[in-house]
Amino acid sequence: MKAHSKPIRSLISGQLCIEYIDFKGRDPKAPSVYIQAGIHGDELQGFIVAQHLIDYFSSHPPLGDIRIVPLANAMASNAKTGEYTYGRFCTDTGENWNRHYLDLVSYLKEETAPSPFLDFESWVSTFDVENPHVIDAKFKEAMKQALDKYLEKPMAYHKKLCAQLQRLSIGYDTVLDLHCDSGSVPYVYTPSYALESAAYFGFEFCVSIPKKFGGALDEAAFYPWWCFQEQLHQNSPKHFSKQPKFESFTLELGDMQSCNLKDLDMHLQAILSYLYYRGSCEEKVQNRPPSPEWEQVYCEYEDFVNVWATEGGFFHSQVQVGQKVNKGDVLGVLYRSSVSLGLEGPQSYLQNITKPIVAPENAYIVAITSAGSVHEGMDLFRILRSPKSITRSDIKK
Ligand SMILES: [Zn+2]
Repeated sequence: MKAHSKPIRSLISGQLCIEYIDFKGRDPKAPSVYIQAGIHGDELQGFIVAQHLIDYFSSHPPLGDIRIVPLANAMASNAKTGEYTYGRFCTDTGENWNRHYLDLVSYLKEETAPSPFLDFESWVSTFDVENPHVIDAKFKEAMKQALDKYLEKPMAYHKKLCAQLQRLSIGYDTVLDLHCDSGSVPYVYTPSYALESAAYFGFEFCVSIPKKFGGALDEAAFYPWWCFQEQLHQNSPKHFSKQPKFESFTLELGDMQSCNLKDLDMHLQAILSYLYYRGSCEEKVQNRPPSPEWEQVYCEYEDFVNVWATEGGFFHSQVQVGQKVNKGDVLGVLYRSSVSLGLEGPQSYLQNITKPIVAPENAYIVAITSAGSVHEGMDLFRILRSPKSITRSDIKK
């Protein structure tokens, strides 16, 4: 185990660093893993989970190399307003911290010369197709060089932090980014090709992402590998499958703004179960998920949608996370201001100031805002519609 401290920003009070821990794997062939927590500074559970993983791997050395960044964004974690952590957006620019990782595919095409993507066929023809590890190593090197070049230019801090974290993650075969949602059940975002792997976290809910770049770390990590693998397959279908071996996931570990020691063991088991399935650590887990009776509800990315506040007011939810609802069910109420309603006659005061929020379609409630008051257009619920399911018998091991 080796601890590192990488300078990232010169502050008024001195130098800010990213702290991270590297574990050397015992098997050079085992897949390596990068685990990061806290890019959103108000999502605290990932930090606790990451600390316990460090503790775990200190006494149970992993098979693959593992890098853990337990507090990726100290600026955001330190940004307190009273008891509230203002951790989702950069205080300098207002930008969402998890939307500014670099689109390496575009960058490699446009900025790096000679580019593997501009002249892919001749680039790949220089490889020994019988030895895919050499090809993977060359691609990792190309991505490292691209990020090093990108980081040479001065840029806003939210971009620099993302690029530096992305640089720390390049070269690893698996990327896990730990987050939390407003008030929510645990769930996982997976690239669609890794849906079966995502089952090994044993979570009840999952969102399947198509081949797209969206600025978050999981997408920034899997998108280049997905494009690369498809081009390898197109070039030489005999030697390469369409599906990348690389995997990255965003894990949403319950409610933001709180540390939940009650669910800590479940979160640790979820991650260790996946890493065991992946071949990156040996099994030391009791009751490894998914259990025999496990069933996961998942949906396509476009079916994971928000229910917005149709007007401003004070909000009260009448449903629970994880609950299944039908179209037209009342999910909660908004209490509006009574000023200027022009109340006349004996009509009910409450009828005029309350407005029910109803389910737009049959769905599962995955997250509920923790805000007690909202403006028009703020999200109240995150719902999973058009659900599909996987059971334990649908997955291989
Ligand atoms: Zn987050």
